[in-house]
Amino acid sequence: MVPHRAPLSPGAFDFLPLGSIQPRGWLRTQLRIQADGLSGHLDETWADVGPNSGWLGGTGESWERGPYYLDGLIPLAWLLDDAALKAKAQKFIDWTLDHQAAGGMIGPASNGDWWPRIVMMKALTQYQELTGDPRVVPVLEKYLRFQLSQLPSRPLRDWGKFRWQDELLTVLWLYNRTGSPWLLDLARLLRQQGYDWMSLYADFHYTEPVTENFLRAHGAGGLSDLALSTHGVNHGQGVKAGPVWSLVSGSDADRRSVEGALAALDRFHGLPNGMFSCDEHLAGLDPSHGSELCTVVEYMFSLEQSLAITGDPSLGDRLEKLAFNALPGAFTDDMWAHQYNQEPNQVECSLHRKPWTTDGPESNLYGLEPNFGCCTANFHQGWPKFTNSLFLHARAGDAQCGEGLVAAAYAPCEVRTLLNSTPVHIVEETEYPFRGAVRMRIAPEKPTRFALCLRIPQWAAGTTIRINGAHQPPPAAGTFARMEHEWKTGDAVEIEFPMAPRIVRGYRNSVSVERGPLVFSYGIDESWVKLRDRGMTADWQVFPASQWNYALQLNAGAPAEGLAVTESDVGPRPFARKHAPVQLHVQARRVDAWRAGDGAADPLPESPVHIAESAQSLTLIPYAAAKLRVTAFPSSEES
Ligand SMILES: [Zn+2]
Repeated sequence: MVPHRAPLSPGAFDFLPLGSIQPRGWLRTQLRIQADGLSGHLDETWADVGPNSGWLGGTGESWERGPYYLDGLIPLAWLLDDAALKAKAQKFIDWTLDHQAAGGMIGPASNGDWWPRIVMMKALTQYQELTGDPRVVPVLEKYLRFQLSQLPSRPLRDWGKFRWQDELLTVLWLYNRTGSPWLLDLARLLRQQGYDWMSLYADFHYTEPVTENFLRAHGAGGLSDLALSTHGVNHGQGVKAGPVWSLVSGSDADRRSVEGALAALDRFHGLPNGMFSCDEHLAGLDPSHGSELCTVVEYMFSLEQSLAITGDPSLGDRLEKLAFNALPGAFTDDMWAHQYNQEPNQVECSLHRKPWTTDGPESNLYGLEPNFGCCTANFHQGWPKFTNSLFLHARAGDAQCGEGLVAAAYAPCEVRTLLNSTPVHIVEETEYPFRGAVRMRIAPEKPTRFALCLRIPQWAAGTTIRINGAHQPPPAAGTFARMEHEWKTGDAVEIEFPMAPRIVRGYRNSVSVERGPLVFSYGIDESWVKLRDRGMTADWQVFPASQWNYALQLNAGAPAEGLAVTESDVGPRPFARKHAPVQLHVQARRVDAWRAGDGAADPLPESPVHIAESAQSLTLIPYAAAKLRVTAFPSSEES
């Protein structure tokens, strides 16, 4: 662990050194699917990160795509200990580290933008933690000194200006290792030149969909402040600006600004998959609107960082909701194709203009680079960084936990770390999020006292915890349950989360169904039609082959009561529709008046709806398993 160095604020928890947490079970399977899909082969089939990349000294793409790819490829390769993937990453790293300009600049000389270097530094810090390569710290120091000298005359602009908080992470990472005081001058200069996200979230005024007409009416071009401060990916990154800056400012208001950010985005643009709409700008509450895949992975990274700094367990709830729904939902089961935009109510994936605020007609196709190639380069970080965030370290004296490990999110894994100077190995066995049981086997090298702080989600009232079979006091939902003991090898902690289905209300009083961290959807029958081959992969349209316009029939007094659950094994593709590990069964009635136009479901009717059609049984599957889906339903209620 490298804690934050004074005078920085300590933050609630620290990340474990990369490599401390290893995926197991379905999570390892998922990372392997990713490596065997586009992530492991992108350089072989997409010229933008191929041998002529500017980040390999070539004359090809020389902006953000090489660094984006590395930001996910590096942790993926090392988590899987995959020699072939490591070798692919190493070529980019070696070129970058070995070709620093005499003045300090890194990267392709043909492109002087600060922004892609912000991404490359995130990749290099991960690589340094995984390998200890002694070249990284001197290269970063020389580059950041150079940037500090240049910024007064060549300030942050457009993307870099709105994403300064991501550079601040690297500046503080380096300060924690070197203590060079000029790095804090650089931190303050980034804050001064960067966009003021904290002020925006304190007085949030983007309450309507931001359409092309809206931008035109305000004379806003694509890189204007108005366009960039309503841009989805920028928000995905910007929500962490307050917490990250609070490490420097020490301000509680800065640290807590992420709460206001999530509340504002939920209130005006929130969707039932945990995302906010952004296609490509903030798009309102209609669940036929989409969210960009870059925003999903950047929002996840922001939540991981913000949770570590604030210690707020609710950020873990949100992180899981994105990781287990929106992230896998944007990919084909084999992770060879992805969407740019995904919609909670996604009744067709085809070439169409509706309903995007500013995006193009390819945006919800499954393919190599639908609409624009940013997501193709950037998606790789989602699963690996989630894996690296499952456990965090709490320091001695921490108010919530004390010296120990924090289970920030749940998935099968094992962790090796030092607690109270003793090597500790913990194996977490679970099929969460598909099941509610989590078992941790604890093995310290010698009996050692430390705390295990278990995140109890807000939805998990009634959770039980047993240590070596003995029931512990019932934990409160929405907190960390602190289990401090002298642990010895063979000790076991068993958590049982309640997994009863829940009904959640949304846009136009619609209903969505959740169970644990999973969101459920009606899976419309799918007809996949290849649009064209794309090298080793292809672009696909998906057309509906069944009706989808159903209202759920719920008991007005106890809406979740009639939902039946069936479970089956978690298969070789955990989020695939085939062998969906959990299914819910509900009663539903057709709503004839609810139709689609130009590939998108019309806004759903206000609930409750009154329908004469007879009820029929409908099966719901995990959101990500249904590539054509309805997630927000009208409801028809009977008492
Ligand atoms: Zn993107």
